[in-house]
Amino acid sequence: MIGTNEMISAEALIDSNRTGREMAPTSEEAIYQVMHAAIAERRLPAGMRLVEDQLARLFCVSRARIRAVLQSLARERMVTLQKNRGAFVSYPSVAEAREVFQARRLLESALVREAARMAKLHGVERLREHLDRERAAVESNDRRVEIKLSGEFHLLIAELVGNATLSGYLAELIARSSLVIAIYEGAGAHDCWQMEHRRIVDALAEGDGEAAARLMEGHLAEAESRLSLSREPVASQIDFKAIFGI
Ligand SMILES: [Zn+2]
Repeated sequence: MIGTNEMISAEALIDSNRTGREMAPTSEEAIYQVMHAAIAERRLPAGMRLVEDQLARLFCVSRARIRAVLQSLARERMVTLQKNRGAFVSYPSVAEAREVFQARRLLESALVREAARMAKLHGVERLREHLDRERAAVESNDRRVEIKLSGEFHLLIAELVGNATLSGYLAELIARSSLVIAIYEGAGAHDCWQMEHRRIVDALAEGDGEAAARLMEGHLAEAESRLSLSREPVASQIDFKAIFGI
């Protein structure tokens, strides 16, 4: 667990896979995007304190602007705001973890059923290209890219449906499930399994929505079952000082 004195590094915020590390986003929307990605991809860990001053300096903007970004992230439950204590990367409870996965099963089985009805050849090709990128990441043992790509796979299916509202809901759920996995990952846990993704794409390519929905539900149930959700993490495993800044 990261201590409260730990500085938020620019490297944690800026995706090193992108070029232009020196990029300093100044609009609230750009800072929001950078921070959202850093939390979803676990560069900023669950429970970490987010100090307004530090962030303001990093992004060369006012604290007020950072506060607005943190409030946006808090509305999506990526960040928890504590009165007089500041902002923290959220630390979802077991109950919240189960809710997030239930919501994903319900939403994504419906989305993939709809995608099967609408998916044109082009959509299936995009998914297959994505599977190739996932395989390359697994082979090169690049865990960070793996996490990023496994989330993007699910978003890509939502994009095929073309409903921005549902894609937005799913983006929030995927980011929150990334925090859940980071906290409750048990032995052998993994965000996604490439083979399961491949089977889902095969069902989509055949236009078999029912099979695709069944596979998606099974895939998410399997991901949840690999987490250690039988109990809350015991107090000794949580650095409350880091979480609450005391
Ligand atoms: Zn997956």
